[in-house]
Parts: sequence; structure tokens; C-alpha cells
Amino acid sequence: MSPTHFSVKSLSGKIFNTVLVFTIAVILAFSAIITVLFYFSYEQEAEAALTEQAQDAAAYLNETPSDENVPSLLAQFAGTVRYTLIAADGRVLFDSASADASAAENHGSRPEVREALDDGHGSVVRYSETLKTDTLYSAVKLDDGSVIRLAETRHSLVAFATTMLGPLAVALAVVVLLVFVLSRLLTRRIMKPIDALNFAEPLENEIYEEMDPLLERIDEQQRMLKQQTREIARAETMRRDFSSNVSHEMKTPLQVISGYAELMKNGLVDPADSRKFSGLIYEEAQAMRSLINDVLILSRLDEAAVGDRDQAIDLYAMAQSVANRLVPFSDSEGVRVLVEGESTCIAGTDTLAEEMLYNLVENGIRYNHEGGSVRVIVGNDGAGPVVRVTDTGVGIPEEMHDKVFERFFRVDKSRSKETGGTGLGLAIVKHAVMYHGGSIEVKSTLGEGTTFILRFPAMDERAN
Ligand code: ADP
Repeated sequence: MSPTHFSVKSLSGKIFNTVLVFTIAVILAFSAIITVLFYFSYEQEAEAALTEQAQDAAAYLNETPSDENVPSLLAQFAGTVRYTLIAADGRVLFDSASADASAAENHGSRPEVREALDDGHGSVVRYSETLKTDTLYSAVKLDDGSVIRLAETRHSLVAFATTMLGPLAVALAVVVLLVFVLSRLLTRRIMKPIDALNFAEPLENEIYEEMDPLLERIDEQQRMLKQQTREIARAETMRRDFSSNVSHEMKTPLQVISGYAELMKNGLVDPADSRKFSGLIYEEAQAMRSLINDVLILSRLDEAAVGDRDQAIDLYAMAQSVANRLVPFSDSEGVRVLVEGESTCIAGTDTLAEEMLYNLVENGIRYNHEGGSVRVIVGNDGAGPVVRVTDTGVGIPEEMHDKVFERFFRVDKSRSKETGGTGLGLAIVKHAVMYHGGSIEVKSTLGEGTTFILRFPAMDERAN
């Protein structure tokens, strides 16, 4: 907005236009009313004055015997007012405006003369289009039957109004100037508190209540922005922590592998022990493989690049296949895995759903004891599909029920590592459950066992 001229978009331009149009309209209306009022009161006064003058003249003429001197007497009276003496038959006897009265046409039919002949007095205003003048006539009947008529010519309303145009133009020019200055001043006053707005604390400003909704919106947006910034920062920190944790978790098996491999390379391992050493190397390599596998799954989940939830997945059948895959592990740990329930479907992605069940059953075996069991119960509980994975294992302390879902959190680090845990299993489970629109709950008693309860939305519900 340029401060020196008004653009269409500027506030001062808007104020200027509005106030100007309004003021000019008021002034014009006001002038018109005043003009008309003035004109009519002036006309009325003039009419009254002329009538009085006509009556004076009539009184004078009635007292003065009609003789040769009357016309000359009347001629003396005549100034701006025209005197006409008309006989009862309409003949013009005398006219102060014309030397040869007898040449004038018969005035008997003139309305004011007629009226005077009938009623004793008559007055009329006639407008001359060509001269733009009004002529006021006032006639009075004399005792001898003749009529004395006075006439006065004045400016008409149009002419009268025309004389007002000059002053009006000046007034309008002054008004434009005043409105210009006024709108500048008003704009400055209106804008002053707006310029001084504190956008850091939008709701702290107390200016116009009309601005409150705007300030509230700004505040809301700022809060949203702050929230987003916080979340981005949190995600960034989490990613950094995750990367450093991953590198840290990789270091240990790699060190073990390269240590044993170096010993074997340098011939420092008895050929009888080489089987044992290559077994250790193999185990560490497996641990690294699991870790990399889990990290890949998690990062795919983080990027939401796991495909659409467009497959119908039978959780019961999937639990059975998972149990089968885990037979070598459960046998080696001496733990029984049982799958119970009935065929129950959710809409989802099979690889992810399988990973989810696999990790839960694997944990149930891993944190169990010989002779223990893991039961997977699949069913429907009115609200939707439910999976319960119950083990007879070590249990999870109450205060860690939330923490076990965090990445790399382990209740018992050595046990997790010994049995090939990565610390990422439950993080993947939780992520996968949420991805399928479900929820997960832990119930556990230390020393007795743990149950994970997974609830999913019913399939047809999801379709809506
Ligand atoms: P991990 O690969 O170490 O098993 P998880 O993320 O799967 O990692 O589990 C995190 C931690 O939660 C485990 O280290 C373990 O201490 C505990 N945990 C998980 N499942 C069970 C369970 N069924 N019983 C007891 N503790 C468990």
C-alpha cells in the first residue's frame, strides 16, 4: 500500500470512497431540501406582500375618484411591480409596462382577473418556460367594477436552484478535501493498533473485538505449527537414537565374528574345535541377520511402505502356520505351542500379520521354561476379531508393560540375546497391530506368565 495514493485495495481508499459517497449524497440531499424550503417560503412571503400591495392600491383607487390622474398616479407607484388597470369588460385601461394600453389584448379571461371579478380577489403564479421565470399576479376588484392587477416577475425554482450551484460546487470541493484528509487520519488510527499486534501471543492483544476471530485463528495455527515442529523434532531424535542403537547392536556380533574368524585364519584354533567356533560364528551371523531383518521391517512400517490392507487374512490359519514354523525352536526349548479357536478374518497384509503372530509366539517360547506352553486363541468377541497369546513364562513386571513395546528395550538383556532376540520384536508387533487398525494389551503376573490380547476391527466394518 503506497502511503501517498489510494489504491483499490487500500483501507484508506475504501474509507475515502465510502465516506465520500456518503457525504456527497447527504450534502446533495440537504441542498435540495434547503433550496426547495427556501424557495417556497420566499414565494409565500412574496405572494403575501404582493397581495397586500394590491389591496393598498385598491383602497387608494377606491378613495380617489376615477379621473384622468389615476394612470399617472399609478405610474408613479410602479417600480419592479407592474400595475395594470382592467375594466369590468376586460379592456386594459392602463398598463405600467406598456405605453399604449389600448393595444393590449382583452384581459377578461385571465384567471386572476376572472377570480377577482367573481370573488373580489385573485392571485396566480405563471411560469414562463422560455424566460425561466415565475410571474406572480394579484388582482383586486375595485368599487366601480374594474380590476387593479399587480404583477411581479421573479426567478423560477430552476433558476433559483441554478444560483445555488456555484456555492454547492465549492462546498463539494471542500468536502472532497476534508474526506481525503479524514480518511487518511482514520486509516492511521485504525491501523495503529493492528501494526502493533504481537503475533507471538495472538490472544494477548486487546484491540478490536471484530479482530478476535482472526487472532484466535492465528493462535490456533501457531499452536498447530508448534505441535508439528515438536513432533518433527521428536521423530528426528527417535530416528537418530534408532540408528545409533542399530549400529551399536551390530557391533557386538561383528566383533565376535571377526575375532573367531581371525583366530581360525591364523591357525590358532585346534581343528577339533573348529566346528564349535564356526558354530559360534554362525550364531552371531544369524543374530545379525535377524536384526537386519527386523530393522528393515520397522523402517518399511515407518515409511508406511508395506502394501495395502486389502487381503483377507485368516488369523487362525496363520497362527497354525506360525506354530509349525516354530516347531524346531519350541522343541529345542521344551515348550508346547497350542493353537485354538476358529477361523477368523481381518483385512490386512499377510507378511505383516504373520510377522506379528510369529514374534508373539516366539517370545512366548523364548521367555518360558522347559515344560511350559504357549496358547494362541483366535476368535470373535462381538466387537471383532481377537487374538490371545498366553504363555506360562517369566512374566513382565507391571511397570514395564508399556516399555516392552519400545525399540531395543529388553527386560532381561542376556536372556533376550542368548535366545536370539533383537529387542525389536514387540515394537514390530505394536506397529503391525496399529497398522491393521487394532489395539494391543498386556496382562502379566511375574513368574506365572503373560497374555498379549490383540483386538481388530471386524472386516465388513473396515470396508465402510
Ligand atoms: P526381544 O527380541 O528381546 O524379545 P521384544 O521386543 O520382542 O524383544 O521384547 C522386548 C522385551 O520384552 C523382551 O526382551 C523381554 O524382556 C520382554 N518380553 C517380551 N515378550 C515376553 C513374554 N512373553 N514374557 C516375558 N517377557 C517378555
